[in-house]
Amino acid sequence: MTVDTKKETYLNFINGSWTASTSGEVMPSLNPANNDDIVGYVQMSTKEEIDDAATAAKEAQKSWKKLSGNDRGGFLYKAADILESRLEEIAECMTREMGKTFPEAKGETARGVAILRYYAGEGLRKEGDVIPSTDSSALMFTSRVPLGVVGVITPWNFPVAIPIWKMAPALIYGNSVVIKPAQETAVTCAKVMECFEAAGFPAGVVNMVTGPGSVIGPALTDNPNVNAITFTGSNGVGKVIGQGCLARGAKYQLEMGGKNPVIVAADCDIDLAVDATISGAFRSTGQKCTATSRVIIEEAVYETFKEKLLKKTAEITVGDGLKEGIWMGPSASENQLNTVLHYIEKGKEEGATLLAGGNRLKGEGFDSGYFVEPTIFENVTSEMTIAQEEIFGPVIALIQVNNLKDALHIANDVDFGLCASIFTSNIQNMLSFIEDMEAGLIRINSESAGVELQAPFGGMKQSSSHSREQGEAAKEFFTSIKTIFVK
Ligand code: NDP
Repeated sequence: MTVDTKKETYLNFINGSWTASTSGEVMPSLNPANNDDIVGYVQMSTKEEIDDAATAAKEAQKSWKKLSGNDRGGFLYKAADILESRLEEIAECMTREMGKTFPEAKGETARGVAILRYYAGEGLRKEGDVIPSTDSSALMFTSRVPLGVVGVITPWNFPVAIPIWKMAPALIYGNSVVIKPAQETAVTCAKVMECFEAAGFPAGVVNMVTGPGSVIGPALTDNPNVNAITFTGSNGVGKVIGQGCLARGAKYQLEMGGKNPVIVAADCDIDLAVDATISGAFRSTGQKCTATSRVIIEEAVYETFKEKLLKKTAEITVGDGLKEGIWMGPSASENQLNTVLHYIEKGKEEGATLLAGGNRLKGEGFDSGYFVEPTIFENVTSEMTIAQEEIFGPVIALIQVNNLKDALHIANDVDFGLCASIFTSNIQNMLSFIEDMEAGLIRINSESAGVELQAPFGGMKQSSSHSREQGEAAKEFFTSIKTIFVK
């Protein structure tokens, strides 16, 4: 491949040094809003670099785990300060690499800073329990211990927040890390890694290897020096990783897709429900695992809700997320755009009615990017593909129901169970939803979205391997428990 030498080439970070892959190959990272813009080149690594990183991480973890939690936290605080000082630059890189708007990218980077600080503080919190023994001359207690080396495999849709919400808890509890970021956003991850380097983590404690998931993903999952894998991404890849880890007895955590419903009850604040649906469905171009993809509406307010939704959707400005006034950016890659267009065609073929959007945007400002219109279907039934499969784009399906019992039934009638919202002013409706909705994140009178960083995050059913990330819940995955009996 011809490399544009004016653009920066990013290296792997292994054992405290920036090194090129032995493959000698690099891949360009392209701006999905403008393919003529090469953000940088990243290494197309091989199993060899994964093996080197895992070996370095194993060695480094031996002394990293001996530091006090307070000392480990000191490195995380430093990384947070450095990331904060580079917030605008890293957010701009994120927008160029995967297309979300600059304000959203800044918000995500700020969240990365807050997560680092949250877990830095965790180094001073309790790490075990004293349990009364039936033997009065014995002391029985538990101690949380690190797992060893944690392999981190991340997607492109939150290229700062997801790596950090996995690496920060892994590190504070005394593990070392090898991260393999999504190829599409490897430059942004390299910049996060620069912040970790500048924070002075000992060599080998944090390592990054970039390259094709189909090659270096299995090399990481199957590496005998890697004790656990934490993964966020698609269900197909997640299942393969889970099976690989299970086969060799490694711990694993999988956070995967969603098909998130919003229920609009007849008694709700309609304007609030409309605004939240637009934001939940179309922010980040619908490329959030918690994005709204099905809107289930009681018939009494169906027409009013639809009319207001269409009016507001027509006001959405689509374009390059770095430009002032743009509300929705492009799909993150050509692949992703094609997936979205495929589902739009599927919706039409299966008899849903296209109410808005449905097309790739063309013309000045759009031709060299992957822009698609915000898209709304109606007359959707629960059996249709667009009501069952994750689209990961700005497409929603409106489903009309007679009552809330039917709404809840349809909301649960999918394989996924990540996030679900209801808009209602009736307390009984809220309580029924909390009790009967099969989802890990329940939101009432608020858009489908992730939750605050100090609260558990994760899904039910096919959306996760049933552990939780973030907040205190992260401790369950990133540590093991020793039970100690002293006589
Ligand atoms: P993928 O599953 O395709 O990729 C995720 C990561 O896995 C990437 O780093 C990828 O590398 C890597 N990978 C690919 N093949 C393998 C393999 N055989 N073994 C190990 N690793 C591999 O997902 P996307 O990046 O396309 O992200 C979109 C998906 O992620 C959506 O389905 C979405 O719902 C889900 N997601 C879930 C979230 C959650 O918290 N529940 C949050 C965000 C996204 P490479 O990039 O090189 O292919």
